[in-house]
Amino acid sequence: MHHKSDDLIRVMRKKGFLTSHAVENAIRETPRHFFVPENHLDEAYEDRPIETKKLQTISQPSVVARMTEWLDVKPGLKILEIGAGSGWQSAILARLVSLETVYSIERHSELVEFAKSNHRKAQIKNVKIIHGDGTLGLAEMAPFDRIIITAACEKVPEPLFDQLTNGGLLIAPVGKNLQTVVLYRKKDNKISEEKIEYGYAFIPLIGKFGYAE
Ligand code: SAH
Repeated sequence: MHHKSDDLIRVMRKKGFLTSHAVENAIRETPRHFFVPENHLDEAYEDRPIETKKLQTISQPSVVARMTEWLDVKPGLKILEIGAGSGWQSAILARLVSLETVYSIERHSELVEFAKSNHRKAQIKNVKIIHGDGTLGLAEMAPFDRIIITAACEKVPEPLFDQLTNGGLLIAPVGKNLQTVVLYRKKDNKISEEKIEYGYAFIPLIGKFGYAE
């Protein structure tokens, strides 16, 4: 398995989606085969998204790498993810924050269980998966230094900007059919765009401050 994961890392580096050694190590230490459904195991190290349960997906590795790098994660930062899915993204974040807890909200209870059992397999202990509507954020644990939305939204749900620390970063795919990944920074309680990149395809963010069911 190990050389397969090295091949994937090489592909992502070649595409320019992976430049940081910290992120590379976190990905290498979080084998993707623990997070893909059994019937897709042979595709675990291809740079493609994979359908999980309920027609949801585990994101494409190079997209996970790109978003993780832009989020500038350091040990000790408090992170909220919207859309736990397979749990792979939150597991990578969990490595990067070291001992801090990562919070991840998922709307499908079946996927909450899937992510939790994948974390057990991969021996990830510092992620807390919460079943609920992530467009509301997680007020009781706010504020967060970093927020990552892993589903497509028309605009970032307002509660998530409210729950971001001053100086904090939020990354989200914004748009309908194809999305622009946008990195936002909150400074002096104002939100500004830091970086944008067009051409991503995520599944929709469904909830009170997202798309209708
Ligand atoms: N980050 C995941 C991939 C996410 S796919 C991984 O690492 O595998 C997007 C996920 O967002 C899906 O699992 C979907 O069920 C979830 N989702 C969509 N709208 C949501 C909402 N309002 N709150 C929480 N999760 C949501």
